[in-house]
Amino acid sequence: QVAVKTRRRVIEFDQRMAARSAARIALIGELKAAIADEQFCLHFQPKLNLRTNNINQAEVLIRWNHPERGLIAPGGFIELAEQTGLIRDITRWVLLQVYGLTPLCLRQNLKLSMNLSAIDLEDPDLLQFCKNLHRGRPEGTRHITLEITESAAMKNPDQALELLTGLAELGFQIAIDDYGTGYSSLAYLRRFPVTELKIDRSLVQGADLDADSQIILESTIQMGHTMGLVVTTEGVEHDAEFEVVRKLGVDYVQGFWLSRPMPYEEFRLKHLVGNHDQLTQPN
Ligand code: C2E
Ligand code: MG
Ligand code: MG
Ligand code: MG
Repeated sequence: QVAVKTRRRVIEFDQRMAARSAARIALIGELKAAIADEQFCLHFQPKLNLRTNNINQAEVLIRWNHPERGLIAPGGFIELAEQTGLIRDITRWVLLQVYGLTPLCLRQNLKLSMNLSAIDLEDPDLLQFCKNLHRGRPEGTRHITLEITESAAMKNPDQALELLTGLAELGFQIAIDDYGTGYSSLAYLRRFPVTELKIDRSLVQGADLDADSQIILESTIQMGHTMGLVVTTEGVEHDAEFEVVRKLGVDYVQGFWLSRPMPYEEFRLKHLVGNHDQLTQPN
């Protein structure tokens, strides 16, 4: 009796596993097609410069415009893209889009940030790809910041150091993203050619109600400044959180408090000067 029950459970479990891996295989196929058909778009999330009170930077965040399922956030496909190596092609697509926007950045005095994944830091051909972009328009790199998380940088620090040094030599800025979620020390990360520290939203959220969080935020911001880094706080959602980070002397603020990420057209209308930049819209 028990054996039969167990057996049935095992079969059900197998079927669930099979269904899951079939779904995964289907999704991989769809992701490959998405890359070939360029079914992606970039949303733009502005950053407020607290020194000038201007919006002169934005982070680009990818979305998958799935033919049946509509817009899919990165949480729905980046991990699979990393596991399959497809992220390399996605990163190249984002780089091409952002690089194509650098003439706009020059006209608008705008800087754009984009995300690299840990897999990109192990990609032996990425530097050459970036060198080719740079050769086509050498002034483009200085408008672009490449964001890497501390855990990505620490996965293979020597290889990451070599690539990031090469990218920095081309003129790209490098930012540490989601700082405070890993275990690495800022002193160690300082070996990388980093110019910006982005403090993760987990350190920011609710900081107005929690004295300990404020102490951690304050010392992180101070340490970043001591190391000569520009400091951004991510995930600022409420007025009270904004007041806390402003008083602690942060340089840039990003978060729903200022704006959610938005499609290019909306970003252009809200944050860019004039209307002549309509034609440069990527997707
Ligand atoms: P991230 O680089 O840390 O980007 C910030 C994420 O936080 C974005 O989510 C953004 O929408 C969200 N966010 C911004 N402000 C707030 C806020 O005030 N509250 C809350 N709760 N969330 C906020 P999104 O667009 O879903 O992206 C998630 C992550 O996916 C990114 O985190 C980044 O790690 C990754 N990602 C996005 N685009 C790309 C890409 O082009 N390439 C790669 N490799 N990864 C990407
Ligand atoms: Mg980021
Ligand atoms: Mg982040
Ligand atoms: Mg993140």
